[in-house]
Amino acid sequence: MTVVFGGTFDPVHIGHLHAASVAADILDTSILMVLSARPAHRKAPVASVEDRWCMLRAACANIERLIPSDVELRRKGPSYAIETLVSLNASHDEPVIWVLGADAFDLVHTWYRFDEFVNRCSFLVFARGGNASERLPRGFKKADEYDVLERSSGSVYFGNQAMMAISATALRLDISQGCAPDELLPPSVWEYVRQRGLYLT
Ligand code: ATP
Repeated sequence: MTVVFGGTFDPVHIGHLHAASVAADILDTSILMVLSARPAHRKAPVASVEDRWCMLRAACANIERLIPSDVELRRKGPSYAIETLVSLNASHDEPVIWVLGADAFDLVHTWYRFDEFVNRCSFLVFARGGNASERLPRGFKKADEYDVLERSSGSVYFGNQAMMAISATALRLDISQGCAPDELLPPSVWEYVRQRGLYLT
């Protein structure tokens, strides 16, 4: 079973690590933390891809089940999730389980070549603040148990575990205003941000 938690990680924060760790516990497997190097579906990241990759590696260094993945970094051009699914050999019978927050899931139908996802992946979705809409993209079915996710592609399981109310956008704002949100970042990431002077403007 291959499980992916993707993100721009600008910067990676403990909300991401918590969500990925919950997914690792639920599914009892390790998680590929895939850096969206050049995201196509959102504003360009603030930190460089090299800085975001260093922070992601530092954040995962002591967490055995979270494996940083540079699969999208090594490709040229925009980071399309469908190309990641293809490179991971995702198929109907051996789908990749893609873990994301409800905010990202709400926009998933706009992702490049989304029609192909139904034959290659299932989704594990966590609510982020308030209730998630649980709206299903075309072709996907709601799963009542998370073990359905790995049996075949095209399923969505909505996890009810509590997530942390942290966003990278708010963190960047805090840092630019001189606040030190050190408890919201892994210590090694906060150290990196300070040393490199990231997010000051
Ligand atoms: P930004 O505020 O810049 O959009 P972000 O904090 O949402 O950043 P991303 O890298 O865009 O982080 O998100 C990667 C994935 O992590 C998405 O699926 C998103 O929903 C999820 N995610 C982000 N923060 C949390 C959180 N606190 N709890 C659970 N999931 C989260």
